[in-house]
Amino acid sequence: MIKVENIHKYFDQQHVLKGIDFSVNKGEVVSILGPSGSGKSTLLRCINFLEQPTSGIVEISGKRVNVETAKKADVQSLRLSTGMVFQQYNLFKNLTVLQNVMVGLTSVKKVSTIEAKKISTDILEKVGLQDRLNHYPVQLSGGQQQRVGIARALALNPEVLLFDEPTSSLDPELVSEVLTVIKDVAKEGNTMLIVTHELNFAREISDRVIFMENGIIIEEGTAEQLFNHPRVERTKQFLSKAN
Ligand code: ADP
Ligand code: MG
Repeated sequence: MIKVENIHKYFDQQHVLKGIDFSVNKGEVVSILGPSGSGKSTLLRCINFLEQPTSGIVEISGKRVNVETAKKADVQSLRLSTGMVFQQYNLFKNLTVLQNVMVGLTSVKKVSTIEAKKISTDILEKVGLQDRLNHYPVQLSGGQQQRVGIARALALNPEVLLFDEPTSSLDPELVSEVLTVIKDVAKEGNTMLIVTHELNFAREISDRVIFMENGIIIEEGTAEQLFNHPRVERTKQFLSKAN
């Protein structure tokens, strides 16, 4: 479903992604772990062209794009096939919960207002926010705001969901309500790539886990392999420190 080949990303002289290769199969949940500054966010942002990768190939759902020769239409198509959940929620503050979820449907997908409202209401019910439809983001807890962020990504029914540390901005007592929603989304067979520091969560939810540091993939395996029998010393160290 997702395949990236030899992705490099420079910010000026800084070489942040140094040849990343991996793939995610349809319905698979893959987590990316690694210390801060290793390029995890940049990698997610390169997959949907929120950042322009310097070189390499990104393929989503059979649509293969050489990033150096990508046309506007290619970029648009990659963006449409991905939904992203951000650490900082990135909700529109001047829109209600319902409007936040509807806006992508009406403006990007050109769905009618009535249909968009129906789809959005259903999804907001699924994330437990049916009684918050007309609230504004500022009136919600962090956990509720992030559940709106997830609903907004789901509304567009993307091929792939990308999560960038979805619980890192939350007070500890709000983390579990968001992780529960993400687990439910995974159970529905969605293809998901998740950057997270929540190791227990990653272990529980992931089919495969990737450990990244300094712009390269250090180790990759099933959750069982990586957590119980890491092969690389650096992975062992990271997992033991993080616990
Ligand atoms: P992680 O998500 O693993 O913490 P990031 O992908 O955010 O790592 O960052 C990797 C490196 O790229 C860091 O050194 C960071 O400072 C740099 N970086 C990230 N985004 C930008 C940007 N927009 N401009 C310049 N440097 C950036
Ligand atoms: Mg990051």
